Amino acid sequence: MPKSSFLTRRSRHVLLAIAVICITIGLLWQSEPSSAVSIPIKQVDLPAGKTSAAPEPDAAEEAKAAAQASTQEPDGPLSAATEPQPVVYEIQPGDTLSEIFDAHGISANTLHKLLEADAEFLSLETIQPGTTLTFTLDGKNQPQKVDLQLDVARTVSYSRTEDGGFEHQEITKPLHWDRQQVSGEIHGSFYASGLKAGLDKAQVAKVGQLLKSKLNFRRDLRAGDTFSVIVGHEHTDTQATGNTRIDAIELHRGSKTYYAFLYSDGNYYDETGDSVTPAFLRWPTKQHYRITSPFDPNRLHPITGRRAPHNGVDLGSPSGTPVMSTGDGIVSRIGNHPYAGKYVEIEHSGTYKTRYLHLSKILVHRGETVKRGEKIALSGATGRVTGPHLHFELHVNHHPVNPLTAKIPTSAHVPADRIAAFRKHIRPLMARLNVPSYLPARQARDKTGAEKIPTQASNSDWTQQCLRPGQCRFN
Ligand SMILES: [Zn+2]
Repeated sequence: MPKSSFLTRRSRHVLLAIAVICITIGLLWQSEPSSAVSIPIKQVDLPAGKTSAAPEPDAAEEAKAAAQASTQEPDGPLSAATEPQPVVYEIQPGDTLSEIFDAHGISANTLHKLLEADAEFLSLETIQPGTTLTFTLDGKNQPQKVDLQLDVARTVSYSRTEDGGFEHQEITKPLHWDRQQVSGEIHGSFYASGLKAGLDKAQVAKVGQLLKSKLNFRRDLRAGDTFSVIVGHEHTDTQATGNTRIDAIELHRGSKTYYAFLYSDGNYYDETGDSVTPAFLRWPTKQHYRITSPFDPNRLHPITGRRAPHNGVDLGSPSGTPVMSTGDGIVSRIGNHPYAGKYVEIEHSGTYKTRYLHLSKILVHRGETVKRGEKIALSGATGRVTGPHLHFELHVNHHPVNPLTAKIPTSAHVPADRIAAFRKHIRPLMARLNVPSYLPARQARDKTGAEKIPTQASNSDWTQQCLRPGQCRFN
């Protein structure tokens, strides 16, 4: 018995020792990998005057949260230790992408892979001072992900793919438009009067462009003429993005009143449903060339073999073919991209945008006003191409669509089957623009009571009765 009790005590000691060793190993095991795996935030020596937000935890965290576009839960302490750390950089005036990548120790090859992934989107081409770049780096200081914060609502994210390239993804927060009315009286030029009333330069220019088919702003306006503009402001749930659009215009010139309303098809119409902006051309070339590669959101790229969208159509035009703007507009960008080649982008009435890539020669300047059918460039084979062609894109509300089949205003009126819906759309805008006698007259006509919301039939006849609403009496 004593022997066995001795053994028992001894074995207890052994067990205790084993337990202590196990716990010690366990503790070491737990602490070891977390310190080994955690990647310190790289301290970057940046040129004087440039800021990297990474060393400041608050700024880094804020930018990271913003860059992730609220799709992820905040990192807990454990996951923070095992996940790569983001490095945030705010673009400064005079920066170039290659300088920024260089300063962060990221290879030129990686930058080229990013530019390659961006060729169908040209998002990196929109970078300007204030844009935030967030690099999520791996242990070898190579980015697994690069986020580009375009504005408070939009982030473009490039994620590393297995073959070493990047995949483009755009994340947009839910958005809505708030309306604000700006009214004023003409004294001096419309330009000066518009600015004085609170419109910005782009909005004044837009109003001029939208009503130019109706009247000559230089010659026809008189002191005392009045205007009202309903401006839409884009918002996320919490913030304004800074994007604005013009929802409606009313301009009283003497006894006449001119209108323009933005409709759901992205085009502007007057109160009768006639388009105030000229229709689009379907093709950017006089001749119709063979489609060498169609619009395809799921295309396999002919050179890389990777699945990547083809956001335009390729037209097999020989080098030197004249390229026309398919609509009236303003040249918003021109550039020379390693993959997209020489390109032109044109903004048409805010909602529409066209792009022309792989050009041999650009014949317009940024900011220049162009007409539908105007020669803007010669097609070519610049950038990465398998042969000469014109890559042509059409974007509606920032989304690429098939330019050869998309519903675009090629006609000059709201289609007959949508005219009732159009009238319903502009009714509250008309009321808000405070058309003289419009509201009181409608209420007077509606004898069943002012509180009742009139049905469409009871007041859908106003456009037919009154082609010049400024001269109309609703009684
Ligand atoms: Zn193409």
